[in-house]
Amino acid sequence: MNKRLTVRSIAVLLLLVLVSLETGAQEKLDFQMLDRIRNEGLVNSKITDLLIYLCDVYAPRLPDSPQYVQAGEWVVAKAKELGLANAAMEPYGTFGRSWELQKFYAAMTAPQYMPLIGYPKAWTPGTNGVLKGPAVLITARTVADLDKYKGKLKDAIVLIQGEQDLPISFDPMASRLLETDLQKLMLAPEPAVRRPVSPQMQDATARQQLQQATTKLLKAEGAGVVLEPGRGKFGTVFVSSGGSRMKNAEMPLPAIAVAAEQYNRIVRILQKDIPVTLEVEVQARFTADDLPGTNVVAELPGVDKKLKSEIVMLGGHFDTWHAGTGATDDGAGCAVAFEALRILKALGVQPRRTIRMALWDAEEQGFVGSRGYVANHFYDRAKKEKKPEYDKLAAYFNFDNGSGKIRGIYAQGNSAVVPIFEDWLEPVRDLGAATVTLRNTGGTDHLPFDAVGLPGFQFIQDSLEYGTLTHHSNMDVYDHLSRPDLIQAATIMAWFVYNAAMREEKLPRKYFDAGAPAPARGGN
Ligand SMILES: [Zn+2]
Repeated sequence: MNKRLTVRSIAVLLLLVLVSLETGAQEKLDFQMLDRIRNEGLVNSKITDLLIYLCDVYAPRLPDSPQYVQAGEWVVAKAKELGLANAAMEPYGTFGRSWELQKFYAAMTAPQYMPLIGYPKAWTPGTNGVLKGPAVLITARTVADLDKYKGKLKDAIVLIQGEQDLPISFDPMASRLLETDLQKLMLAPEPAVRRPVSPQMQDATARQQLQQATTKLLKAEGAGVVLEPGRGKFGTVFVSSGGSRMKNAEMPLPAIAVAAEQYNRIVRILQKDIPVTLEVEVQARFTADDLPGTNVVAELPGVDKKLKSEIVMLGGHFDTWHAGTGATDDGAGCAVAFEALRILKALGVQPRRTIRMALWDAEEQGFVGSRGYVANHFYDRAKKEKKPEYDKLAAYFNFDNGSGKIRGIYAQGNSAVVPIFEDWLEPVRDLGAATVTLRNTGGTDHLPFDAVGLPGFQFIQDSLEYGTLTHHSNMDVYDHLSRPDLIQAATIMAWFVYNAAMREEKLPRKYFDAGAPAPARGGN
């Protein structure tokens, strides 16, 4: 046997052992602290109180509205009371104009009386006093069909769509991820392929053109208010914005989303050529044109001489839509982040790195608050300018997929964090959180971090009634929160943030190309 070869084989073997150690489980975890976090989070939870203040008292919160500011001041005061540091409403730039609903009433008064379940769309103006009159149903199929309405729409109460199809639902309202769903989530998605333009897409374009022409006509004719069928059923109305926050944007017509069942009733009566009389009043107020936008922040300061200037962040978004109170979107995330910080503070945790909570403004308008924050603190994409804190951020953890508990985490294409998260989740598997997927997820405030190469993550959550009932609807209220789920989530959030604050190194980052195009800006 060649002696040299043997030495070489031993060296190779050693290297293999080292490599496997390098990639296998290796996180140093403080199990005593985990037990304490579990006890404080699961047994002594204070999240209910936070949820009542955030989802009943100080809600809804359209960005930078008076309600938003009141709520922010409450969080700052509460954070100070808990002994947290640097609690503040931190400006990030200009938001634009906010909007506030002050009064709304709508009813069918003939042929029968029926009070309407409806919600003015945000950023649409009030009506010119109380409007009473016949409902006018627009039945145009083409842009040319619109001509017959000319001269007949002044101050009219207009219905712009026909009867909506409301098929019986056989699917359950609420759902949790099954083991098979989680298994699937761990595998890479099928590569996307480009599809040719389908006939449906061409139809959609024609529909859009008709819609634009209708809006233009209604404005030109001075229509009084527009009624639309709200998406949803069972009296649930999904409603968001009908106008713009930008100060010089054109003012839209007053617009109301009406519960589909009631909207359909009005349409069917009109189609029998029986007149329907409606009564509508909206009072709404646009606030100052150039409001400064603010995020809400608070900290548990780090104590390690070397590491305290580094930061671990956690959060959700503080702004909501207005028909409900934004309980699951994203009062839940704000409460989870705040409760996680409370747990650590109550345990007297002295983190090595500073732990910073941020509750973001204007996520629904396209991550306006978190994008502003990232540009100010970390990396300004527009100027391609790196800020001092860029090298200091260990990780950002976001919670914004409703009220469902944490089932795992999206590693956002960052292979190096997968084994780390797997180690952190191992001792909380019994709470139902065990899955790490390399997949990306979109639609939440971790994206502006991810877009500049910072490690920003969103958890995998059970959807419960998020997609079916609460997301952007009038039913997004306290009663559709699942408190046991949120108690679990705050406990795991505290554990994640604790680990990120205590480990030797910041979380590994993925490759960042400063020249790559900016990501999509949709809110969730
Ligand atoms: Zn959201």
